Amino acid sequence: MEPDTIFMQISFFGAAGRVTGSKHLITTEQGKRILLDCGLFQGEGQEGNELNRHFGFDPHTIDHVIMSHAHIDHSGLLPRLVREGFSGPIHCNEPTRDLLSIMLMDSAKIQESDLKHVNKRRLERGLPELEPLYDAEDVRQVMRQIEIMPEHSDYWDLCEGVAVRSSVNAHILGSVALTLAIQDGGREKKLTFTGDIGRPGDHILRGPEAIPQSDILICESTYGDRLHEDESDAEAHLLRIVKETCVERSGKLIIPAFSIDRTQELIYMLDRLAFAKKLPSIPVYVDSPLSVNATEVMSKHRQCFNAEILDYITRDGDPFGFPNLHYISKVEESKALNDNKGPAIIISASGMAEAGRIKHHIKNHIEDPNSTVLIVGYATPNSLAGQLKARSEKVRIFGDWHTILCRIEVMDSFSAHADYHEMLAYLSSQDPNRVSQTYLVHGNERALQAWQSRLLDRGFRNITIAKHGQTYEC
Ligand SMILES: [Zn+2]
Repeated sequence: MEPDTIFMQISFFGAAGRVTGSKHLITTEQGKRILLDCGLFQGEGQEGNELNRHFGFDPHTIDHVIMSHAHIDHSGLLPRLVREGFSGPIHCNEPTRDLLSIMLMDSAKIQESDLKHVNKRRLERGLPELEPLYDAEDVRQVMRQIEIMPEHSDYWDLCEGVAVRSSVNAHILGSVALTLAIQDGGREKKLTFTGDIGRPGDHILRGPEAIPQSDILICESTYGDRLHEDESDAEAHLLRIVKETCVERSGKLIIPAFSIDRTQELIYMLDRLAFAKKLPSIPVYVDSPLSVNATEVMSKHRQCFNAEILDYITRDGDPFGFPNLHYISKVEESKALNDNKGPAIIISASGMAEAGRIKHHIKNHIEDPNSTVLIVGYATPNSLAGQLKARSEKVRIFGDWHTILCRIEVMDSFSAHADYHEMLAYLSSQDPNRVSQTYLVHGNERALQAWQSRLLDRGFRNITIAKHGQTYEC
């Protein structure tokens, strides 16, 4: 093969030089345009808001969208894409489809309610009102355009000259790495987009599968600069926090958690503690309609579970249900939790505490030294969870400043992202000499640079930190 043969162009329209907004556009020599992911920019301030309104490409020109997973920073602009004229197929697997149907509808509601506040302020300043990014009808249209891709690991034909294979990557339910085998005149190049790389020791999901040897990699970098703390006994750690907060201080344990995976992992861990009769008798509330729905979706897709939880199910029956556990969907029931003075555990979304009921729970307990906020997942530094994690002195919630008097605890073992040791292990399926180009995405500047130098040490070459809006030929 001629080294200078151009097979495709790759253009980066999100998660390039930043974490959210994942959107990578592949244009083949034959002119097929394939968009990998269509994520919303989240927690990126005014710049993110602008980027959410302007794709940087014409949605009419896209032939196919293929989804790595359902997280909103990878999927949350699908309804916008459809609203702006994309009419082709959106390929994803069944678990991802089921998650998209609940998550995108939730996102449409958040857009609507956020916009109410924004438009109120704009009207006060004499500015014209903004239209929502999308609405429920756009979400329904997304669902109509979804085509289910096979869950097995064979290649399937996407279009002339392009076959696709997905490999489970254990990041969240349904999440996969995507490999495109692109053919041109009897020659072939393989491009793999890692999606978000999960961890081998996930509490619920099967571990990551090896990805096929690739010529080109688009690799995530979230934790390119760090290692997770070694959490040998997460259950014991959680139990200690529960006892210190709810038994010794009669306080509330408030846990902001992503609706998908993080919430179910927490429930499963509490379920195990309850089953082993170690969990003190206190009420546990899962207070988020999205989390309640996501738990149902999760229960439906046991084919994605690891051997340990499947074995547990044979003994316990339901890993997401125990006597003191209450799922709350209705707003009135959620509000009633405020009047409940006794100890309790409240798990609520969103994970970064940027939206949803969790903001109210944090606001109501942030100045209570007997209560604890437990951070269990990734949070961008500017998000409310990020500020709590950094133990800022004061935080602003709904426009008012609050001094942080409650306790802040952090548990690392729930992270859905591999750290750099785990990512290197994941890439051990690749002979670095056969990878001609690697593009790094989905990380902050420090993580991207650290990950780049680690990959160089490992023998990978031509490693580019992808730039937003830039097109690369390979
Ligand atoms: Zn993700």
